[in-house]
Amino acid sequence: MRQFQTSYLSKETFREEAASWQAWRIEHAAGAALVHIFSDGANEADVANARAVVEEMLTDAVYVGASASGNLHNGNVTNEKLVVTCTFFEQPDSFARTHLFSVENRDAAAFRAELQAMRDQLADVRAIEVIMTIDTIPIREVCAVIEEEIPEDIQIWGGGAFGDNTFTAFVFEKGKAFNTHGIVMAMLGGKNFHIMNSYVIGWKKLGSPLIATRADGKVLYELDGAPAYQIYRHYLQIPNDEHIFYNALEFPFAVDCENRVLLRHALSCQEDESLVMSTDIPEGSVIHVTYGDPETILQSVRQCAEQIRAFSPEVISVFDCFGRKTFWGFKEASRETRPLHTLAPTYGFCTAGELIRRQGRMDHHNLSLVVAAMREGGPVERKMPELSLEIAQNESSMSMVNRLANFINMAMSELVEANETLSRMAVTDLMTKLYNRGEIQRRITERVQEKSAEPTGEDVTSVVMIDLDNFKRINDTCGHQEGDLVLTSVAALIREAAEKQSGGTAGGRWDGEEFMILLPGLDKAAAAAFAEGLRAEIEKLRFPKCDGETASFGVAQALPGESADHLTSRADAALYAAKNAGKNRVCTAEE
Ligand code: GH3
Ligand code: MG
Ligand code: MG
Repeated sequence: MRQFQTSYLSKETFREEAASWQAWRIEHAAGAALVHIFSDGANEADVANARAVVEEMLTDAVYVGASASGNLHNGNVTNEKLVVTCTFFEQPDSFARTHLFSVENRDAAAFRAELQAMRDQLADVRAIEVIMTIDTIPIREVCAVIEEEIPEDIQIWGGGAFGDNTFTAFVFEKGKAFNTHGIVMAMLGGKNFHIMNSYVIGWKKLGSPLIATRADGKVLYELDGAPAYQIYRHYLQIPNDEHIFYNALEFPFAVDCENRVLLRHALSCQEDESLVMSTDIPEGSVIHVTYGDPETILQSVRQCAEQIRAFSPEVISVFDCFGRKTFWGFKEASRETRPLHTLAPTYGFCTAGELIRRQGRMDHHNLSLVVAAMREGGPVERKMPELSLEIAQNESSMSMVNRLANFINMAMSELVEANETLSRMAVTDLMTKLYNRGEIQRRITERVQEKSAEPTGEDVTSVVMIDLDNFKRINDTCGHQEGDLVLTSVAALIREAAEKQSGGTAGGRWDGEEFMILLPGLDKAAAAAFAEGLRAEIEKLRFPKCDGETASFGVAQALPGESADHLTSRADAALYAAKNAGKNRVCTAEE
């Protein structure tokens, strides 16, 4: 593969340039040609002229193009208005084909049908570069269609054409006009064509997870039940002013998505303190605030570049989020693209969203750098230049920000652990390890409140109250320690029996040698059978000094609309009846 590129200045200079490309092609008997035309803004006349020259000078070349927020030229992120890149394939059977899909009225079904109709054409394709007008198409459905309809062994990567309030994002291909709701694909293949795609994020998670408790489309209303913007104000002191986009860019959100992480950044903050995000965040998502630290990001670029270097590419395609350019500042933005260009000539543009298929999933990223390394032939030993990255190489030079973030994360996870221990202690009876009185009471109350109306079927609830028989005597004759052993042994039986029941079953210590069990889904007959089983188990227990111990049981099933207090006092009355009837038995409460 061989790549040429130029920053378009005029029709005349470009014609000369294109002529020299074509001359190289003829001299080297190169084959297929794929041209990219990326336009920062909508320079319609210039784009039209560039297209005319390509068609005139490189007659059989196919081309695709898109609107951009800055162009890659010679490995640098530039604001050159129009950059044209031409990639020649040198192997005779390598090919490049293009296709533009128009996704009118956000109709993903039509896109699917068109893609299905192309099935034959995809048979020998190895990779597809996709460029879309992300905001004007149903991106989630489009990604799903691609996942389902394009065979999994075809690598897919690409980016979103950029648009803003001065121009609408567009894509195009040879022979077609600007399309403002389209997907353009460059399909590449050939026996000796190889490709490896990858992506870099570089922002790292900070602090504990948050839940997107209210979200609708691109609007993120609440995180952990509080207005989303409060995260920025409270923890990061980012004011809600005209700079919020820039300030929040240093701390975008990482959204956990199966085993991948997708970054989403805030575009603005609304009056109700909701955030308008770069891309939809599904309600219920688990989110982390992340921090962007230049050195940490460059370390991630290094890792990616090392993989690409090992692949020994001839050409590298780069889709670089415009948000990264904003984060770095225009002058610095090339720090992460130049190292790639030292490995092989790069082409690409600053995108509004990046796309890559990994492990079968077609992901829509923000703030990422998506790259595809390509070569024909090999894997041959090609002497690759050393990576040149303007960052320190070793661990010991971890950045200050990274160390501080690490400190916060460690301190936070220790606090979370301590909190979990405290919460557990707050609901547990120390001696028996069952729930304490407050907790078992709370659980019974919650259950009957939830299912109190007309409880039938799975919604019925029963409770069982237990009191050890003649327990004073055990203490008196065998000692308090033996008494404690009896209590913990009975508690262990209660826990085991509860664990065999459905979720929500819970055993608690009600008082000294009294216990309470909540049995969701069991009516009084089933609860009495459960109690009878437990009674028989307790009876079988043997202890070092005292022979054995028995217990009495009171069972009650919740009545429609009954309060928890009333329910437990009926269980207590049934227990009292069991004691009066001679102990070591189960009695069920009257309704
Ligand atoms: P009954 O069959 O009528 O229930 O007779 P009982 O002897 O069990 O009577 P009661 O329920 O009034 O007695 C409870 C006794 O349980 C009194 C108290 O000393 C003992 N107890 C309460 N908590 C503990 C404890 O944590 N450890 C020990 N060893 N004994 C306890
Ligand atoms: Mg008692
Ligand atoms: Mg007792």
